[in-house]
Amino acid sequence: MARIGRAAILDKEKGRFVVGEAPVPDPRPGETLIRQAMCGVCGTDVHMFHGHFPWTRFPLVLGHEIVGTIERLGEGVERDATGEEVREGDLVAVVPGVQCGTCYFCAVVREPGLCLNGRAYGFRPYLDQQPHFQGGFSEYVLMSVPRSQFLKVRTTPDIAVLLEPFTIGIHFADRANLRIGSTVVIQGAGAIGIFSLAAAKEAGAHKTIVVGAPASRLELAKAFGADVTVNIEEIKDPQERIALVKAQTPGGHGADAVFECTGVPASIPEGVEMVRRGGVYVEGGHFTNAGDVVMNPFNHFVMRHITLVGVWGSTIGHFVRGLPILESGRYPFEHMVSHRLPLERVGEAIDCLSSNYRLDGQEARKIAVVASQR
Ligand SMILES: [Zn+2]
Ligand SMILES: [Zn+2]
Repeated sequence: MARIGRAAILDKEKGRFVVGEAPVPDPRPGETLIRQAMCGVCGTDVHMFHGHFPWTRFPLVLGHEIVGTIERLGEGVERDATGEEVREGDLVAVVPGVQCGTCYFCAVVREPGLCLNGRAYGFRPYLDQQPHFQGGFSEYVLMSVPRSQFLKVRTTPDIAVLLEPFTIGIHFADRANLRIGSTVVIQGAGAIGIFSLAAAKEAGAHKTIVVGAPASRLELAKAFGADVTVNIEEIKDPQERIALVKAQTPGGHGADAVFECTGVPASIPEGVEMVRRGGVYVEGGHFTNAGDVVMNPFNHFVMRHITLVGVWGSTIGHFVRGLPILESGRYPFEHMVSHRLPLERVGEAIDCLSSNYRLDGQEARKIAVVASQR
């Protein structure tokens, strides 16, 4: 008898999540069936819920920060993305992005993250199939790509579930070309800010300064190794914050790199002022259109010879490099998952991340959906 799986299905933009059931397909050759252990709720899920991405197709099962056990390997799937042998029952982290491999950006520019035909689990990659098992807010995920887009995990699900957002931090550090001994400012103490902080330290940052709020998030940043924190709720004047940050940099000249992880347009001119002459400003906090910002080309960029770079998502190499860092225990990643919710509460998670980041009387750090929980 075919087994039945449950999934939280979103009917439309700003719609309702309803837990639906469907027969779980057996993987065909090259496919892998994963039984979800945990799936993180991301700011991107919130943007998709609110209709900020015009390409979103409904009905939809969200969730792309997926960890689970291999339920069944399709014929020919024997290894993970690094080439390591896998068996049914192994815990794996899913690499959600699927690229075409043949478009101009995949084949010529060789930047698969910019693929013109990019799809991803949690974004309904296969419109011709039922939505149930294409995203992480589900008991099962059927990986239909004809290659192993998962990595064998040697830590707990609540640490491995952080891999996808951590890869964004690694991409930040890559784009900044950090060198040993660098001074790095991170604007924002949300999940991406904290992960970018850890990535900056791994990439050679010697001094890290986190500018954000509230105080509890800055405490978390300190636990991850931030040397200095600046609370924007206490120091409300951006000019004062710029002066405070610059005073912490060599010669008071500014940071080698500043990472924008807030998603608030006003933070950009402020952050650019914190970069030293010849430094790098990395913009990755705006994963959707939050509005415009006024910049002065001469004062902000030319005179100061600043490099401005954008970060769009991450690719499989970031996952391969990131997982051993999560597994190493060098950072207190175990303090990140604050909530574990059943499929029936996905809507509450989205509401929480759309409003005050509080749920069940507790601050949300990373909310995880556990499909087996009732
Ligand atoms: Zn994410
Ligand atoms: Zn492509």
